Amino acid sequence: MVDKEGSADSERLITEIKMEIEGGSQIFLDYDGTLVPIIIDPEKCYAPQSLREILFNLSKKYELYIVSGRQIKELKDFIGLDINLIGMHGAVAYLDGREIPLVKDFYQYASRIEKVKEMNLQEKYDGLRVYDKSSGILFHLGLVNKNLWDKIRNEIESIALEYNMELYYGKQIIELKIPGVNKGDAIRRFRNGKPCLIAGDEDTDESGFIKCPECLSIHVGEGNTHAKYRVKNVEEFLSILRAIS
Ligand SMILES: [Mg+2]
Repeated sequence: MVDKEGSADSERLITEIKMEIEGGSQIFLDYDGTLVPIIIDPEKCYAPQSLREILFNLSKKYELYIVSGRQIKELKDFIGLDINLIGMHGAVAYLDGREIPLVKDFYQYASRIEKVKEMNLQEKYDGLRVYDKSSGILFHLGLVNKNLWDKIRNEIESIALEYNMELYYGKQIIELKIPGVNKGDAIRRFRNGKPCLIAGDEDTDESGFIKCPECLSIHVGEGNTHAKYRVKNVEEFLSILRAIS
C-alpha cells in the first residue's frame, strides 16, 4: 500500500498529510499517471467528473497547481476547471486567466518546432504519433513496431542536436523540449513558504521532490524515487486526495 521506509498505510499517510498541510497550504500535482492513468491515446485523457470534483474541492481549500509536461491548452481542455496550471515541464504557467512564460525565449522555440513538424516523421514511421506542444514536440512510439524504436530514437536525437532542444525520454515517448526547463524550478518559483504537498509518477517529477525537500512528496507507482512517500497507483492516490479535500 503506502510506504515510508518500508511501512505505513493509507490512513497513516492521510493523517500525516493533514498534520503537515492545512487550509491555505500549497499543493502541486502532476496530471498523467498521477491523477489519471496512462492510456494508449494521450489525447483522450479527460478528467472524469469524480476527479474534477476532487480538484475543485482542493482548489477551494488549498493553493492548487497542476504541474504537467502537457501544454496549457490541453490541461484546460482535459480538466475543465479554472485552476492554476504549470505546463510544458515548467516552461509556462496559467494563472488568473493569463498565460505566463516562465523561461526566456519561450516563444522563439515555436518556429524551430514548426520546422520539425514539417519533417512529417509520422509519415516515415508507421504508427508514430507526433504531438505539437507549441514550444515542444512529443513523439509517441506506443503503436510503432519495436524494431524501429532505435532508428526513430537516433533520428530524434540528431534533430535535438541540430535545433538545440533538450530530449526527454518517458514511457513510450520521446520529447523535444526547451533546454534547462524542469518542474522543480517552476515549483520553487511559486513556493511561498507555506507547507506543501508535491506528487508525481515520473522522472520529470523527481526534480520537484529534490529541489523542494521541505515539502511532503509522494511518488505514485513503481520505480526509484526521491519522494518521501509512495502510493501504489492513481486510484490509491485519488482516495488520499479525496480524504484531504
Ligand atoms: Mg506523470
